[in-house]
Amino acid sequence: MDCAQTMEISSREIIDSMVQGIIVTSSQRKIEAVNPAFSAKLGYSFEELIGQTPRVFKSGQHNGEFYESMWKKIETDGFWNGEIINRKKNGDLITHHLNISPIKNGNGEVVHYLGVFSETPENKLADQAITHLAFYDPLTDLPNRTLFDDRLKQAISQSERNNQMLAVLFLDLDRVKVLNDSLGHVIVDMILKGVAQRLKLCLREGDTVARMGGDEFMIILPGVKGIEDISTITEKILDSLKPAFQFNDHELYITTSIGISIFPMDSDDPDTLLKNADTALNRAKQLGRNNYQLFTPSMKEEITQQVALEQDLRRGLEKEEFVIHYQPQVNIMTGEIVGVEALVRWNHNSSGLVYPKDFINGAEETGLIIALGEWVLRKACEQTKKWMDANLPRLKLSVNLSARQFEQRDLVYMIERILADTGLPPNNLELEITESVIMQQVGNAFAIPHTLKAMGLRLAIDDFGTGYSSLNYLRRIPVNTLKMDRSFIQDLADTGNDGAIVSAVIALGHGLDLSVTAEGVETEDQFEFLKAHKCDGMQGYLFSGALPAENLENLLRNKTIFREDLLFANI
Ligand code: C2E
Ligand code: MG
Ligand code: MG
Repeated sequence: MDCAQTMEISSREIIDSMVQGIIVTSSQRKIEAVNPAFSAKLGYSFEELIGQTPRVFKSGQHNGEFYESMWKKIETDGFWNGEIINRKKNGDLITHHLNISPIKNGNGEVVHYLGVFSETPENKLADQAITHLAFYDPLTDLPNRTLFDDRLKQAISQSERNNQMLAVLFLDLDRVKVLNDSLGHVIVDMILKGVAQRLKLCLREGDTVARMGGDEFMIILPGVKGIEDISTITEKILDSLKPAFQFNDHELYITTSIGISIFPMDSDDPDTLLKNADTALNRAKQLGRNNYQLFTPSMKEEITQQVALEQDLRRGLEKEEFVIHYQPQVNIMTGEIVGVEALVRWNHNSSGLVYPKDFINGAEETGLIIALGEWVLRKACEQTKKWMDANLPRLKLSVNLSARQFEQRDLVYMIERILADTGLPPNNLELEITESVIMQQVGNAFAIPHTLKAMGLRLAIDDFGTGYSSLNYLRRIPVNTLKMDRSFIQDLADTGNDGAIVSAVIALGHGLDLSVTAEGVETEDQFEFLKAHKCDGMQGYLFSGALPAENLENLLRNKTIFREDLLFANI
């Protein structure tokens, strides 16, 4: 040992480096000094304690006698030794072992008191466990929201000092609610743990990944060089989730949506950075999930509009401003009206008739589509049953279902209830869903479509050709109809590729034993092409647009055959 160096260590340095908490008071019991370990245990800085008496730590857990006998023992025996419960600055209680002894001068007079606080071993372990619980998520062992908030504040100050950029990523795993309902929370917990592991592997030292609760994770990337840097890491994260998670016989795929905000461009305030990342996350979800979006100021404006639309939609629903128009569907071979598609419109109190393109997305995003969709289904079933009872030609009713409705746990019960209440036979009802909605059912082996089929309902894939369908799955899903998107029909005038696509879709549908309906048929030429290629059904302005119920009823009474008179109904 180097003696010279040992000699240079002062008693102050020794006291400061002790793990025991040390407190020194005057003979009047006024605090004169504390070491850092003491400050850390009780949560007070030295400056806050100087001049105070140890009464500031009084916990209320001991009575007056306890303190009296303590001081008596110090006077008579020259020390006190025992367990004491104190109150920390934040209000928490702390139990520790305390040793108090007086320090006397040469004349035997007490000039100071010295208190040494040490933790009992059990306390120490319990304290550590409590600290861990307070700052870490028990399931994934990632930092929790409290620790995340603290780290974000620190990271922002550090980035400010070093003139660096910092990115905040807000992740929300896609469709976890559906997995929870179908597979149970044990499997979902395993997925969350697995995701936490993969996220950690994507990050650099100094980055933080935290679980905010549920299926939400948050990442801090300090010291990023620019947008490109952020994109690289974010893409790495999306890629890392691509391989399936394997649990017993289950092979599960998980994707995530990510919203990103950047310090200092988007804000220098932690709360605003989080809020902006959340806004960007919402946009990522709207854009079909499994993608990332950087916050832009215009997103804020759009959110404001969305909130206004939400309130307006609620009002519209309450005031029963929605109406349903019915577009006839025609059998191409016979020319007969065989069905109607229910299409909702909003009879807005100030804007007049509003079409779905201006409110369906908003209703989806705000979840109001669930109430609206249920209303449409009930109303349309009631109306169709009325037509049946009035001895009008028997019609198949097509109703559009949105993705959000398909995620509802009680969808099947809701439909069952409506059919029972209205008395519409199930095989008169065809539900239209898009390719992406149906393909998302892969994970639960198309359980809902199979249930609906077993109930006697029909299913159609709407806007077929605009999404991604796996032909392999298409064989396994119990659908009855493909509704070919109107973009293919629109381009039929040029006899090039789209003619080939239209005939290919018809052949594909027939090959899979499905009926094919063409959407948006507007001209005789389009009709002739479809007839020549044996397309089964059509709807479009060539025969009729969507009509209010009374107008459709008149049409049904007077004219049920397409060819007799070509009518361009435009409402
Ligand atoms: P969609 O289900 O593909 O409905 C067909 C759309 O094409 C309707 O527009 C219809 O009016 C329009 N259309 C029909 N024939 C022609 C034509 O010959 N040419 C042209 N250019 N367009 C034609 P609409 O009523 O504006 O509805 C748009 C979309 O809104 C629907 O597309 C559907 O996805 C959605 N939608 C409508 N009603 C509901 C509803 O009650 N619930 C849900 N979830 N979605 C709905
Ligand atoms: Mg439709
Ligand atoms: Mg469509």
